[in-house]
Amino acid sequence: MSVSHELVKRVATKTRVEQVESINYMSVSIDTRSLQSGALYIPIVGERFDGHQFLAQAIEAGAKAAIWQGDVPVPKDLPDSFQLYFVQDTLTTLQELAKQYRAEVNPSVIAVTGSNGKTTVKDMLSSILTFAGPTYKTQGNFNNHIGLPLTILGMPKDCQYLILEMGMSGYGEIHLLSMLSLPNAAVITNIGESHMEQLGSREGIAKAKAEIRDGLVEAGTLYIDGDEPLLATLTEDTVCSVGFSQSSDRQISEVHANAEGFHFTLHGVGQLVIPLLGRHNVKNAALAASLAAGLGLSYDQIQAGLKQVKISSMRLERSKGSRGELMINDAYNASPTSMVASLEALKDITGFSKYVAVLGDMYELGEQEKALHEQMAPHITTPITHLLTVGQKGKWISESVAQSDKTSNISLLHAATVEEATDLLAPLLSEETVVLLKASRGLKLEKIINDLLVSE
Ligand code: ATP
Ligand code: MG
Repeated sequence: MSVSHELVKRVATKTRVEQVESINYMSVSIDTRSLQSGALYIPIVGERFDGHQFLAQAIEAGAKAAIWQGDVPVPKDLPDSFQLYFVQDTLTTLQELAKQYRAEVNPSVIAVTGSNGKTTVKDMLSSILTFAGPTYKTQGNFNNHIGLPLTILGMPKDCQYLILEMGMSGYGEIHLLSMLSLPNAAVITNIGESHMEQLGSREGIAKAKAEIRDGLVEAGTLYIDGDEPLLATLTEDTVCSVGFSQSSDRQISEVHANAEGFHFTLHGVGQLVIPLLGRHNVKNAALAASLAAGLGLSYDQIQAGLKQVKISSMRLERSKGSRGELMINDAYNASPTSMVASLEALKDITGFSKYVAVLGDMYELGEQEKALHEQMAPHITTPITHLLTVGQKGKWISESVAQSDKTSNISLLHAATVEEATDLLAPLLSEETVVLLKASRGLKLEKIINDLLVSE
């Protein structure tokens, strides 16, 4: 159950049908292809399409009513009972509706931003907070000016914890999302290099992420990566830094890897266990645990939530390949920061004789893209035995390794395409092999896993 007629009427200038009875819309949808019966349809005016043109399809799919931009002619053959709410602008109405619905349901809202780790921290928080009450989170990557209001409007009426992922590619975007959702607590997971093209520098990225404070309610706490100097300027009383450095408000210590993942101590919370690879996930878990503790959850709830966390796929996802190899699929996306993080994760995996890093193109890095690929070279070290680069940009990594370390005994391989990479990888696989897959989304590096099955 989502918004009610009364709530929508409040944001409209007038309605087509004089409603007598109140009705609750089952959901809010902007896309007639996924619209479900009983929904309120909101047509968005895009660059290529205008959602108003799809009203007939929306009705056919079962829409009960639609928002309508006043300057667009109303189709003649509408059923008499079909409700339209007239507004000036459908996009800002979608956002305003989300704001009103957030106020009506009034959950604790948690905003998660950062260059890497947003979805991971969101999944961890949801796994923990479920122990304290009904929890709802951003589905997939619905984290922008359209996806976020839709997420808010999708939360059930009894929701107590709403966890919102906030993405951005330029200034002002996080500001808008924060003002829309008025978070009770927020997280900046880290500062990387994604969106360097639009923001010019890591300083710019940090500044844009800090906009998350703009809508934070009074006394709401912002949790930040305590190991990132660029965030050290955030020194208000309501900021809590979480990290390995001694200066962190909540320091992480005694980190130990085991076959399943890690255990570590978080100052003020206690010893925690996570079933995940990658030391960056220790930080992600520490951020989620600190925030949950701040909201009043107990140690037992935090520990239980982290123990059973299920992370969205392709984030250091382990599987056993057809030749017995350990496949680590981290190919959801890549930036220099996250590539280094996954290479670091290999160091905690012991007991294999071949360690193959399959690294592909990283996109959207702007003018410095070549240098940023080359900077991966020093991280290609023990235990890696084979480096297989994929794609035009990926090639810069192996070229740089070849140049910088002529005595290296790491075998260097390069493939122009993912298909070629599969052929080069196949002979290296056995129960003694670990393979790490990492590249930007556009390359679809995970195809290697399926292609290997076919090439059996
Ligand atoms: P997107 O912007 O694409 O939505 P995201 O911020 O939601 O990404 P996740 O999906 O959680 O990030 O993780 C993506 C990848 O980022 C992981 O596979 C991992 O390699 C890396 N990563 C996650 N957390 C961190 C971290 N704290 N520091 C560095 N790298 C990280
Ligand atoms: Mg994400």
